[in-house]
Amino acid sequence: MQDNTKIPYKIYLEEDEIPKQWYNVRADMKNKPAPLLNPATLKPMSFDDLRPVFCDELIRQELDDTTAYIDIPQEIQDFYKMYRPAPLVRAYCLEKALDTPAKIYYKFEGNNTSGSHKLNSAIVQAYYAKQQGLKGVTTETGAGQWGTALSMASAYMGIDCKVYMVKVSYEQKPFRREVMRTYGASVTPSPSMDTEIGRKINAEHPGTTGSLGCAISEAVEVATKTEGYRYVLGSVLNQVLLHQTVIGLETKAALDKYGIEPDIIIGCAGGGSNLGGLVSPFIGEMLRGEKKYRIIAVEPASCPSLTRGKFAYDFCDTGMVCPLAKMYTLGSNYIPSPNHAGGLRYHGMSPILSQLYHDGYMEATSVEQTAVFEAAEKFARVEGILPAPESSHAIRVAVDEALKCKETGEEKTIVFGLTGTGYFDMVAYQKFNDGEMSDYVPTDEELQKSFATLPKVDL
Ligand SMILES: *Cc1c(COP(=O)(O)O)cnc(C)c1O
Repeated sequence: MQDNTKIPYKIYLEEDEIPKQWYNVRADMKNKPAPLLNPATLKPMSFDDLRPVFCDELIRQELDDTTAYIDIPQEIQDFYKMYRPAPLVRAYCLEKALDTPAKIYYKFEGNNTSGSHKLNSAIVQAYYAKQQGLKGVTTETGAGQWGTALSMASAYMGIDCKVYMVKVSYEQKPFRREVMRTYGASVTPSPSMDTEIGRKINAEHPGTTGSLGCAISEAVEVATKTEGYRYVLGSVLNQVLLHQTVIGLETKAALDKYGIEPDIIIGCAGGGSNLGGLVSPFIGEMLRGEKKYRIIAVEPASCPSLTRGKFAYDFCDTGMVCPLAKMYTLGSNYIPSPNHAGGLRYHGMSPILSQLYHDGYMEATSVEQTAVFEAAEKFARVEGILPAPESSHAIRVAVDEALKCKETGEEKTIVFGLTGTGYFDMVAYQKFNDGEMSDYVPTDEELQKSFATLPKVDL
């Protein structure tokens, strides 16, 4: 039983309590996520099919549906010690401001220079690239957090890093770009004129501000055409979700220390890696029939893949060069309105989370942009941390759930993922402060048009 008086504002773990293994939730899933398919043959992608694109060890992790615990190499454990364990914070001040009987906790992943959880996977991918003797890696970045994290990780491992940055972010966030360059990465706005696919997208959509899907196609093209390079991805893939389980494993260890049982676990969902990482150990308990939790994925109303998408095989990128993944998707041609939660503007969703959602292990909800910033502002004023717009989606729903508790008098325990800080998102905050923020929600017709382009796959 939880004794409120004994729970500190911040629950820190000891350094030797940083996880030494990642937890692979697929091992406990009865219905495994569907395999990636080769777009040419529609056969499951084999290890050899994936080798031109990804690092070997990462492919093994991608395809491994059965090993429950995978060792974290010592060098990565040592890197994690620079900024982990991440604190689990009891949001006493927010609870007071909301006057709610709910108990709110958040796992804060913004305590590193990249400002988000993405470094947890970036360092792993850079490590395996280095181990394989590669010269460098290519990637895309939307809001810039992933590119920043990978730049830091690549600099640490001593490999080259080429980043294709969604054009709207490249223009809106010049400082992000400079952080990446400071860590030694090259940054190109996407769609660019440097790649075949970039030139094609620019010709078909003149003046486009780009999308993650376009930038992925460009980064993959460059990786496969440049000797000694591979492509790395910051979300969606099984391997990324696996690396991010350090978030959930630490959260669970911190809660267990004080005998705290969460009722509701909330996370924002872009490609699904932070949410998947946070909830994996808890969903594992549900899959094994040990516990029951309410898990809520929160997405932007402008890019509602779980709540309004289709569960179908689709391309992971606009240029259709990547394998097909079975996931909740809005269609790989879907280019969301340039809203400010850049890191949540992906058309698809992690195949693992998609399957778990399909099987009823989690709920999903979507929220509009101004409501998200209202919650962000409230949170910043009472908890002190200036949250990333992406993270603020989770804050919005945590606040709403806490306010429901106020009505019913229930003392629920709510845990949410605070994935990062918003210092590079001041253009968005400025729009909000000036009352100029809009809530764009796609119409059914727009979505239908995009669904019509889904590949026809009969299995
Ligand atoms: C990238 C990002 C997200 C969304 O990505 P997921 O893969 O869904 O976790 C959320 N919050 C922040 C701060 C991010 O940088």
